Amino acid sequence: MDVLRSIKKISALQSIVFTGTISILIVIAGTVGFLVMQKNLLLKVEKKQTCYLELVDFRGRLIEYDLSRNMEHTMTVGVEERKISVKQYAGILRFIYEKLLVQMQDAGLRPVAPMQADRQNWAGVLAGENLDLFKLGLENTIEQAKRETKAAADDLVVINQYFLFFILTVLLTLSITAGWLLHNNYRKTLLPLAQISGQLKLLNRDIPESIHDTAKEIKKELTETEAYSSEIAQITESIMGFCDDIEEKNKKLDELHIRDEKTNLYNYRHFKEHLIIDVERARRHGDKVSLAMIDIDHFKEYNDTNGHIAGDHALKRIADLIISQSRVSDVPARFGGDEFAVLLPDTDFVKAMDVAERLRKIVSDAKFPHKEENLAGHLTVSIGVATFPIDAADRETLIDNADRALYMAKATGRNTVVTFASMSIPVSNAG
Ligand code: GH3
Ligand code: MG
Repeated sequence: MDVLRSIKKISALQSIVFTGTISILIVIAGTVGFLVMQKNLLLKVEKKQTCYLELVDFRGRLIEYDLSRNMEHTMTVGVEERKISVKQYAGILRFIYEKLLVQMQDAGLRPVAPMQADRQNWAGVLAGENLDLFKLGLENTIEQAKRETKAAADDLVVINQYFLFFILTVLLTLSITAGWLLHNNYRKTLLPLAQISGQLKLLNRDIPESIHDTAKEIKKELTETEAYSSEIAQITESIMGFCDDIEEKNKKLDELHIRDEKTNLYNYRHFKEHLIIDVERARRHGDKVSLAMIDIDHFKEYNDTNGHIAGDHALKRIADLIISQSRVSDVPARFGGDEFAVLLPDTDFVKAMDVAERLRKIVSDAKFPHKEENLAGHLTVSIGVATFPIDAADRETLIDNADRALYMAKATGRNTVVTFASMSIPVSNAG
């Protein structure tokens, strides 16, 4: 399994390089082997052929000797013709015979009996019937040399044919491998690449939709339809990672876009968008929307006494308390400074007052740093509540009237909730 997996990981380029290298090595080894064998065989053929010709020549001389055994001989030595005796001629024949034996041994030929003459008694070999026997042996040896020369020449032809066949086989294997690689590359790389590029075009067009979904779609399509190469797998993984990264950053950007950095409450921009939507929805459905405006009492004093950083911590703490009292559908926001607002969809002024009162009490009871040390550590909030459509016919008036109720809460002693509907009567005052 591991071997299979590692084979699958081999890239197209690697397989081309690997196949190419192996083929070149095989061709080089085959050619070198062929050249060596061809040279040896050629040498063998040459030696045997020379032997054969020498043997034929020797036979001619022997016949000549036989025909004129009792006559004086004429021999060509160099450029001049010389008269030599029969005995001298017999000696020359012996010399040639000795040379022939060495040559034959070198060419891998053996004299056929009765050509194996008794070299000690050369005169006897060339005398009477012995000469006829010797000639017979020579005849057989010539035949054999001829046969062996032809066999060696045939071997040369065969080895040439083998080499041709080898080259053709290598070429055929290479063509098949190249075709297979091309086909695989097309199927596993080019096609999926076209798919990816198509999906990436979509991705460019639909970036705000969901970049993650598109990346998943690319992977799904590749996995389902075609086997794809390791390069494509890498590209897909990179795109997936890239998309996840963008997605995550987009989410962070979205959050930054709608949240207040210090308190993590929604910012004024996001609050306003919701106000428009929720008021319009309430108008259409005949529902109620309440708005609670919250301001910290004497916060400047808290800051001045405990420092700005402690003030920031207190701001965050109160924001957390506001969140703890909000439903999922509510929109708790920081308006700016020490002022907050909570938009309460589908909430009438009684329920809104209830929520506001709970929040007021929770803040008043909460332990803030320095609370025990001095009075400036004591934190409370004043809250003004207005409800659409009873207290205001539109969103601007809703904010204005909630603000007025808050102003009234401040004016009537702070740490108080005031509804716009009952502005003259403070609803509660724990201070
Ligand atoms: P009041 O009861 O009338 O609201 O009195 P107050 O002192 O809270 O007066 P006001 O609301 O006008 O003052 C707001 C103060 O809130 C002023 C400033 O010192 C403080 N403040 C505003 N923004 C921040 C902030 O981001 N961090 C800190 N630490 N303090 C802030
Ligand atoms: Mg204040």
